[in-house]
Amino acid sequence: MTRLPAGVLREATIDVGAIEDNVRHLRRLTESEIIAVVKADGYGHGAVRSAVAALAGGATRLGVADIAEAIALRRAGIDAPIVAWLHAPGTSFAEAASLGIELGISSFEQLLAAAAAASADRPVAVHLKLETGLSRNGIAPSDQRIVFAEAARLERIGRLRVVALFSHLSNASADDDRAALRAFEDGVALAASLGLAPRLRHLAATHAAIDLPETRLGCVRIGIGMYGLSPFDGRSSADLGLRPAMTLRGAVAAVRRVPAGTGVSYGYDFRAPRDTTLALVPLGYADGVPRQASGAGPVTIGGRRFEVAGRIAMDQFVVDVSDSPVSVGDEVVLFGDPTLGAPAADDWAAAAGTINYEIVTRIGPRVMRRQVSA
Ligand SMILES: *Cc1c(COP(=O)(O)O)cnc(C)c1O
Repeated sequence: MTRLPAGVLREATIDVGAIEDNVRHLRRLTESEIIAVVKADGYGHGAVRSAVAALAGGATRLGVADIAEAIALRRAGIDAPIVAWLHAPGTSFAEAASLGIELGISSFEQLLAAAAAASADRPVAVHLKLETGLSRNGIAPSDQRIVFAEAARLERIGRLRVVALFSHLSNASADDDRAALRAFEDGVALAASLGLAPRLRHLAATHAAIDLPETRLGCVRIGIGMYGLSPFDGRSSADLGLRPAMTLRGAVAAVRRVPAGTGVSYGYDFRAPRDTTLALVPLGYADGVPRQASGAGPVTIGGRRFEVAGRIAMDQFVVDVSDSPVSVGDEVVLFGDPTLGAPAADDWAAAAGTINYEIVTRIGPRVMRRQVSA
């Protein structure tokens, strides 16, 4: 029986070779420049290691939500271009500018704040974000003329460099995404008429990059796919030629033989239907194991598949292993690569009524990350 390293209750192994291969695969498939999205600590995989692996796989730029995430990557020694696109009102862009961090700009105010952070010898690099239907941030069509005109003026006087125009899709349907593409193209044409000629346009995240080639535009932002997970219902990682990078494991912390009728965990939502063996798994909702998956989340122990019995608690849950020979210290796999026999993150997502993105991103800080390369 496989065991975790001695003394380890729980860990997530991160296969950086899988991240590198996934990026390489998606780069070939899309024939596009890849912006590797490593926000939210690389969807729980570790932002720095994910960034390094993605760059090794051919990504040419990194994407994060906030400036603090971008600064953390720079401080870790990553010198690739990084773009950050979600800013608090009133943010000063001075530190970001001094570190050469590119800014996603969604309003006239942000444009002026970015220009104010330029130094005499270095313009601030910006990606202008257009609102094309998602109703989040982005420059509304009614504001685009004034923002583009000012951006062109600031570029001429050397305070700004407009690297890209970009937007984000809803994935509501192919028709909705095509409508957003048309709105985006209208914005691109308006920008050109006002003197902006950015080198890049980027619109597609993983979903559209794979499924809607006309949205690729030579540059795509890849998040979930680089971690080896599928953004599609009903299509697995393997269907897309991807390998999940994260495997979440625990070591059985206790084993107990109990008679029929024994109640299990808070509320006794589960009672042993017969004499059986219970195994205690030392991961709980504090570790990101969703409590909504109580009574349903899958695990494998020694290659056999079982489900959570009763409620998932903060630090632990119980599995009914029936008469299987399970011992303290045995490895329990919550999710990983299903082609190797592990449950999929998608199975936990289904059990909890959520998406695989949330399953990996919420794995908590108490879970040690161990980098491997298969
Ligand atoms: C998170 C995010 C992405 C990555 O999306 P995936 O579906 O994970 O590929 C791309 N662009 C923006 C603006 C995002 O916020």
